[in-house]
Amino acid sequence: MNEIKNAAAYIRVSTHMQDELSPDAQKRLLADYAKANNLILSNEHIFIEKGISGKKADNRPEFMRMISMAKHKPTPFNVILVWKFSRFARNQEESIVYKSLLRKQYNIDVVSISEPILDGPFGSLIERIIEWMDEYYSIRLSGEVSRGMTERALRGGYLARPPLGYKITVPKQPPVIVPEEAEIVKLIFNQFVYEHKSAFEIARYLNALGYKTSHNGKFERRGIQYILENPTYCGMVRWNQRHNETKTLKDRSEWIVTEGKHEAIISKELFEEAQKRLAEKPHKARPVCEYKHWLSGLMHCPYCGRSMVYHQRIVKDKYVIGSFQCYGYCKGICSKSSSISSKKLEPVVFEALQNAIQNSNLDFEIEKTPSQSETTIAVYYKMLEKIAEKEKRIKAAYREGIDTLEEYKANKQILLKEKEKILNEIKQYKSEVSNRTELQDTVVKRIRNAYDVITSDQFTLQQKNEALRSVVKKIVYNRDTDTLNVYYYYRSPAE
Ligand SMILES: [Zn+2]
Repeated sequence: MNEIKNAAAYIRVSTHMQDELSPDAQKRLLADYAKANNLILSNEHIFIEKGISGKKADNRPEFMRMISMAKHKPTPFNVILVWKFSRFARNQEESIVYKSLLRKQYNIDVVSISEPILDGPFGSLIERIIEWMDEYYSIRLSGEVSRGMTERALRGGYLARPPLGYKITVPKQPPVIVPEEAEIVKLIFNQFVYEHKSAFEIARYLNALGYKTSHNGKFERRGIQYILENPTYCGMVRWNQRHNETKTLKDRSEWIVTEGKHEAIISKELFEEAQKRLAEKPHKARPVCEYKHWLSGLMHCPYCGRSMVYHQRIVKDKYVIGSFQCYGYCKGICSKSSSISSKKLEPVVFEALQNAIQNSNLDFEIEKTPSQSETTIAVYYKMLEKIAEKEKRIKAAYREGIDTLEEYKANKQILLKEKEKILNEIKQYKSEVSNRTELQDTVVKRIRNAYDVITSDQFTLQQKNEALRSVVKKIVYNRDTDTLNVYYYYRSPAE
C-alpha cells in the first residue's frame, strides 16, 4: 500500500437523507482521506452530481462521465472514493454491476470513507449488507414520504403553543385537556351549531359570564372564529399553514390536516357542522333583490307545507298583480293550487298581527333544544363549583396567615359578587324556559315592532322581511276555509 495511487471522488447529495452532508463537506472529507492514504486526487477527477436524487444511473450525468473516463487507458485512477456507498448507487443491482465492472475490467476499487470494509470473505458480505440496507432504506423512503411528513407534522404541530382547552405538560408530547377551558370550547361549538349564534354573539356571551381567553383577555369575534376553524378540537393536527420565513399564511389548499395523538374535545361531526355553517353565512348577506315581497319565504302551502313563491305579472301593460303560489304546485308535485294575491293577503296578515298583539293567551313556540340548555346550565354549575373551591382557598390563606383579614374580606366580596351574577344567570335562564307569561311579553313586543316596520314606508322590503322573521316562523293561508294561521316563535339569545 506504499505505492502512490490516483483517486477519483464521486459526490452526490441525496434529497432523502436526514443526515445529509453538503457537496462541499463531502468533498473536503474525501480530499482529507486521499491525503491521509497517499492518494492523489486531482480536480479533474472530482465528480459532483448537482441537484438530482438519481434512482437510475442514467439520470446521473457525472456518474456516467466518471465511468466512461475509467475505461480510458492507461487507467486515470485506481480508486473511487465516496462518502457513503449509498452515494455511489441507489440499489444493489446497479452497485454490483458497476463495482464488478470497475474492479474486474479496470482494477478500480470503490471505497466508502465512512463505512470501513473489512478485508477477506466477510468484507464483501458486509459490503453487500450495507448496500441492501441502503436499498431498503431508499424504497421505504420513497413509499413513505407522506408518513415522514405526518411525523414531522406531529412534532411541528405540538411544538406550537396549544389553543384554549389544551396545555402541554411534557415538552414535545401531545397536549392534554384543561377541563374548565374545554367546557368553554364545547359551549362555543354548541352555541354556533345548535343555537345559530354568531361568533360576535358568542364572544359577547362569554365575556358577560366573565370567561377569559388563553391569553387571559376578552373574547373577540375573530378569536371565536379561529376556535371554530381549529381542527385540533376534534383530534386533528393542522400544519403547513404558514411560510417558514415570513410566517404569513399559505393558501388553504396547501394546509395539511392529519389525525393527531391528542384527545379530542368535540366530535368530528360537530366540527364538520361548524365548518359548514362557517362556509355558508349567507343569511344576512342575501341580496335585496331576492326579497320580492316582505312575506317572501314566510308563506307555506296549506296542502303540502312547501314554501310559496311570489310572482308578479303585468296586466294590460299597467297593473302589476302579485301573488303567492305553492312552489310544489308550480313544479307539478303539489296537486292543489293555493294561490293568493298579495293584495288580498296583506290586510289579512296585518289583522292577524293586530289580533296577536291583543291576545292574552298567544300561542308561540320556544326555539330551544333540550341538549343545549343542559350544556349551558351545566357550565353555570361548574362555575359555581369553581367559586366554592376558590372560597376554600382564600379561607385557608387567611387561616395560615398568608392573607390579612382585610385581604380575605375583599376576596370574599369579589367571589360573592361573582356567585350572585351566576345565580342570577341561572334564574333567568330557567325562567326563560318555564315562565311563558314573561316570555309572551317579549314576543308581543317583537310582534308590535314587526307590525310597525311592515306598515311603514320607511323601510326596505328586506328590513320588513327581517323584522317579521324575528318573531314569525311561518304563515299558512287556507283558501278553502279562508283562514290565516301565523306561527310565532321565541328565540332566546340576548337581544
Ligand atoms: Zn303545495
